[in-house]
Amino acid sequence: MSDVKNYFGSMVFNDQVMRERLPKDIYKALHKTVERGTPLDISMANVIATVMKDWAIEKGATHYTHWFQPMTGVTAEKHDSFISDIPGGQVIMEFSGKELIKGEPDASSFPSGGIRATFEARGYTSWDPTSYAFVKDGSLCIPTAFCSYGGEALDKKTPLLRSMEVLSKQALRILKIFKKDDVRRVKITVGAEQEYFLVDREIYNKRKDLMYAGRTLYGAKPPKGQEMDDHYFGSIKTRVSAYMKELDEELWKLGILSKTKHNEAAPAQHELAPIFTTTNIATDHNQLTMEMMQKVAERHGLVCLLHEKPFEGVNGSGKHNNWSLSTDTGVNLFEPGDSPEDNDQFLLFLSAVIKAVDDYQELLRVSVATPSNDHRLGANEAPPAIISMFIGDDLEAIVKSIIDGTHYEKKEDYTMEVGVKVLPKFRKDTTDRNRTSPLAFTGNKFEFRMPGSKASIASPNIYMNTIVAEVLSDFATQLENGETTVSELIKKTLTDHQRIIFNGNNYSDEWVTEAEKRGLANLKTTADALPVLITKKSIDLFTKHGIFTENELHARYEIILENYVKTINIEAATMLDIAKRDILPAVGKYIKDVADTLFVKKQLGAEFNSDVEKALLGKLSELNSKLYKNIELLETALEKGCSSEDILACAVYCKDDILVKMANLRSVADTLETMVSEEYWPMPVYGDLLFGI
Ligand code: ADP
Ligand code: MG
Repeated sequence: MSDVKNYFGSMVFNDQVMRERLPKDIYKALHKTVERGTPLDISMANVIATVMKDWAIEKGATHYTHWFQPMTGVTAEKHDSFISDIPGGQVIMEFSGKELIKGEPDASSFPSGGIRATFEARGYTSWDPTSYAFVKDGSLCIPTAFCSYGGEALDKKTPLLRSMEVLSKQALRILKIFKKDDVRRVKITVGAEQEYFLVDREIYNKRKDLMYAGRTLYGAKPPKGQEMDDHYFGSIKTRVSAYMKELDEELWKLGILSKTKHNEAAPAQHELAPIFTTTNIATDHNQLTMEMMQKVAERHGLVCLLHEKPFEGVNGSGKHNNWSLSTDTGVNLFEPGDSPEDNDQFLLFLSAVIKAVDDYQELLRVSVATPSNDHRLGANEAPPAIISMFIGDDLEAIVKSIIDGTHYEKKEDYTMEVGVKVLPKFRKDTTDRNRTSPLAFTGNKFEFRMPGSKASIASPNIYMNTIVAEVLSDFATQLENGETTVSELIKKTLTDHQRIIFNGNNYSDEWVTEAEKRGLANLKTTADALPVLITKKSIDLFTKHGIFTENELHARYEIILENYVKTINIEAATMLDIAKRDILPAVGKYIKDVADTLFVKKQLGAEFNSDVEKALLGKLSELNSKLYKNIELLETALEKGCSSEDILACAVYCKDDILVKMANLRSVADTLETMVSEEYWPMPVYGDLLFGI
């Protein structure tokens, strides 16, 4: 495994393989399909399918699967073998163009939010030729979109592809205004940095909460957490390093551009960053990365935790979605140019993003709303639930001078005069940048830091693409009709949307107050945020650009809230199980032992001081009865459940009632953990989990 060049992409049916193996005309036609979105005809698909199958068999595949991303958030696959019987009791390996292009999985168990009537179980999967097929675990995996019989999207890929199309189209209108007629397509590029935790499998197996909920539902703060800042970028432990090495190899074979790996802030927390690529491929690759992270962990006696907040009291995990636009002629549209015209173009695109984020801040919040991410956003180590943008001091000064109509002040060695519109080479905010901002402009891209570590990056990108497309379309119309000039438009936009720019510390309490004054939304939980998805404003936006139908939006609203309710119910049930069957009996045993000691001492006579036992017994008994009370409260709330037919009401019930009772129960149990002898405590503690490798 020494020469990466030799095995990089070895399991991928990529462009090179296609060029080598497909007949020239078919290869060209496929390229046209990929680049221009022209449909693929069946005779072509037949040839491609056969070539693909032969290649896959060489790579050890016996099956094929349409690999898709239903709204569960994880990827789904249903494997069919290539075998086909022929007379004489033999088989041949077959794979047709029809099978390549379209699959019809019985998909009745995937969430559809009411779109697909249960009697009509069929869903369609159709090949996305813009994302390469690959071989994994003996199966040829074909990246596909997943739709209902009526053509409604049941997955995350379909709207993502739609949003990329739409954004490209609107960006092209703007580029036309700048006379960039050679550009035929605008690519949306994404690089998703992935954070994760690794814990020892044996220790993990003794934690029911991690197994059922993916996060610890109990756990007192260990004597040491992340306060020493000694883990971030620290030297990597041998076992972790072996894991990372093998993970890289697996990802490289799949053509995933895994580039950077390092320790993160919390103990046992790490990060992997790939080189950026086209959005839908980046999304597919991120799903595969998460899968491989978990698989490779198994081989190393480890478990990879992708939950956003596996541990209280130390950092949670996110996924930094780096997003940018570039032309098919190779120009990054967020890279300030060298000529005045190019800088106008840069500033116009920048203004468009600023306006989009301000106008649709609530929607961006919705795009990252999951019950698990709620524990992270605003938890003093992740961006808050309030959306704002960081653009860096240099760019902020430029923005300010544009708004004020003044000359940009000479600052250190960076100079610019707004009058002549030549932008300085301002610092590409790298090391000293603001890591607390939910959305930071980092030189030539935007880094959206709110997405959760476990979630697909499809939604944040769908939303981002759509809101920016909307603003660009509005800009293009105004400019095409001569209603305004580029300079006027930039100035007006920046002036109108200053409130969304914030370069200070987003983790501070002052920011929460300040943001409220600015009128920025602070949608703390999924239950608070989701109603935004089905407002008229959202429906108008998404239907106008053909990203979601109204029906699809309602379906997504239902699915996300249902998932919220189910997740919290599972967590509550797990907490009760652990409290009643593990913690309560363990504490009881310890109490009995302490009581026995007290009893013996009493028998022995007055010269044996039993103050400790008495005090301990008193405290333990009191806490244990408090524990029992809290168990009853949570149990009653859970049994009562939500009587409403309205899914939002149930989500609110979970948030305001169940979650609160869970926190109360946890608090008592965590105090008990610090008092009960280690010998009696029924599960490994935070110290074991965080420092167990
Ligand atoms: P860090 O954020 O850790 O300082 P970088 O800024 O170098 O690291 O890159 C972070 C991520 O941003 C990487 O995944 C990288 O590939 C991605 N990235 C860099 N340029 C772009 C771009 N133009 N479009 C999208 N993603 C990009
Ligand atoms: Mg980063």
